[in-house]
Amino acid sequence: MLNIYPVYALKDNYIWIIHNQNYAVVVDPGIASPVIEYLELKKLRLSAILNTHHHADHTGGNKELLQSYAVPVYGPRNEFILSMTHPVSEGDQINLQEISLNLAVLDTPGHTRGHIAYFASNPINIVFCGDTLFSCGCGRIFEGTPQQMYQSLQKLSQLPDDTLIYCAHEYTLNNILFAKIVDPENVELIEREITAQKLRHKNIPTIPTPLSLEKKTNPFLRCTQPEIITHVQNNSANFPADPISVFAALRQSKNNF
Ligand SMILES: [Zn+2]
Repeated sequence: MLNIYPVYALKDNYIWIIHNQNYAVVVDPGIASPVIEYLELKKLRLSAILNTHHHADHTGGNKELLQSYAVPVYGPRNEFILSMTHPVSEGDQINLQEISLNLAVLDTPGHTRGHIAYFASNPINIVFCGDTLFSCGCGRIFEGTPQQMYQSLQKLSQLPDDTLIYCAHEYTLNNILFAKIVDPENVELIEREITAQKLRHKNIPTIPTPLSLEKKTNPFLRCTQPEIITHVQNNSANFPADPISVFAALRQSKNNF
């Protein structure tokens, strides 16, 4: 039996702890103390650290965790992370024997130059996608290009529809506010807001979300939908209707939102 536990940390990060009864793997530990606390509470031994990208709120806890647990640190081959022992990129498989989980690495550049995601298809479809695809949104483009980010999101959207998206921040409500401006007639989006508000009211994470819901409500996955293209064009005369230009315009207006 595999559990995936969210450690809410820093301002709005989720550090994911994947574990069975004895062993745990941690994804993007921005800070060590709440992770160690959970491991000790549940009497778990850490067996690996996974980083999706180099930002400090995803890697800042590596060093302190390594002082207590001598474990491999997987991370993006094309980025520098001081404590990384196992650089990986698309095509690599990671066999986490202690928790009986096989992960496939996907290259998802855009937020950072070498950002990666970790996908598992057994026992269920799950992806740890860091700051690429968010619940009803996407990460900022810091190091890559809009084209790279668009393609990374397209790659994630081609995973099976029931894939659960484990992103690294609780941004859902704010993302929905933006999405409603872009896609105001979307009934599923309005329903999604009500559900998310109820969850947050009780302090329950809105993550993970199924990819099928993202495809129906996340504007950054809907750049070929006529209503999204019309919204972008209404805000800018003679705007090109190709998906990457639409995506870039959406991302730019979210930056200013
Ligand atoms: Zn980041």
